[in-house]
Amino acid sequence: MVHAHNAENESQHARQEAVRIVTVLRDHGHEAYLAGGCVRDELLGIAPEDYDVATDATPDGVHELFPRAQSVGKAFGVMHVRMRVRKGETIVTEVATFRKDAVYTDRRRPDSVTFTDAREDAFRRDFTINALFLDPMDDAHDVPSGGRVIDYVNGVEDLRSGIVRAVGDPEARLAEDHLRGLRAVRFAARFGFEIETKTAAAITAHASKLKGVSEERIGDEVRRMFTHSSRTRAGELLEAFGLASAALGAPATGARGAVLLGHVRDDADFAVALGAWAIDRGTTAQLALIGEIAILADTVPGQWRRALKLSNDETEAFHLVLVGACQIERDWAEASMARQKRIASSGWFSHALALVRARDGQRGVDQGIADGVCQMVTALEKTPGGLAPEPLITGEDLIAAGLRPGPTFKARLRAAYDAQLEGQATTGNEALKIAMAIR
Ligand code: ATP
Ligand code: MG
Repeated sequence: MVHAHNAENESQHARQEAVRIVTVLRDHGHEAYLAGGCVRDELLGIAPEDYDVATDATPDGVHELFPRAQSVGKAFGVMHVRMRVRKGETIVTEVATFRKDAVYTDRRRPDSVTFTDAREDAFRRDFTINALFLDPMDDAHDVPSGGRVIDYVNGVEDLRSGIVRAVGDPEARLAEDHLRGLRAVRFAARFGFEIETKTAAAITAHASKLKGVSEERIGDEVRRMFTHSSRTRAGELLEAFGLASAALGAPATGARGAVLLGHVRDDADFAVALGAWAIDRGTTAQLALIGEIAILADTVPGQWRRALKLSNDETEAFHLVLVGACQIERDWAEASMARQKRIASSGWFSHALALVRARDGQRGVDQGIADGVCQMVTALEKTPGGLAPEPLITGEDLIAAGLRPGPTFKARLRAAYDAQLEGQATTGNEALKIAMAIR
């Protein structure tokens, strides 16, 4: 659990830094609190990834006290205070001036903001569980690390009951910023919470308007949902609210919910989760035919790349997980030893195998395809040279043998390497003989 330990440590450092910033602000006569997600997480007993500070100091005031603070949207009153704690670890704390948002004409970002007090700042936040402040200097122990929670919106009660509820009038709040529908789903899934009835109705009513939100913001939310172990519930809620179709620009043709997604391992890679979701959304059979998956592989990653602004790497991994699952399920059993070794040593292999394993889970079989393939890979690893030995010969050797570089080079080297993987060529001379025999 080295990783979890580090995460916890980093969280503690982030808190210390945020409290230091609050202290400096207070010492200069300002009001300042820990705010938003970090307060929610501490109340839930989760170590926050980062801490945000909210204050009545204006951005200029923050800049005076923290000369190296960087403005990241001065109009919104958001500053970043950087602190290098040690080599390789810099803590960035967001320090935001209490504000109330004005009109949202583009339905994404408010046109302007007015700086105000803590109470109004709580009311511009999206959900009650996200609208809490914490005074870390107070002697109270509302949270284990100490401090007093300041709650203008009944957020503590909703947190205790497990409810995601819009602050204020749900209809108006969802109309202001359509991304909030996705955020509600993310929080409900992550914490296992219910979405309050009126909030849920407003999310449904505005779901189709998600199209107006930038692809980056939608993609960020989807990425955060699908890299978390609660992705199955997220997938179900997204479909139930009509948010999935709006986000991806296409209705589900499968409409079976998140069946395969539910069989994906908790710690699965984003690409594996996307692969499972694509199969759930795009295929009709109880268990998708492998041919259907091959067709999805050709179309869906490109479409989702645009809809979610996926990176090149993410898109490629998503594509390869589907193609790879096809190779494992359809081709593996009949494949030559050389081909099996090529498949097993591919960069995408472990992800594709994870998707096949999820399909095994869906099949409900004892000894699945993935287990069988795994056993064979273990055996292949034990053959001389293993899965991906250094080639016995290279292009240089062909040139030394009197060949001129040309279109047949690749085929010759491939044949030689295949023979090597099969155990038929064990020396450079044997490999060269095979390469020279190719026309
Ligand atoms: P996470 O732990 O996932 O980061 P978070 O609650 O910290 O959750 P952020 O996106 O970091 O989420 O936002 C910080 C805070 O800013 C939120 O807790 C919320 O109070 C407010 N907020 C963020 N996005 C919105 C939004 N679209 N509308 C209203 N308030 C928002
Ligand atoms: Mg946050």
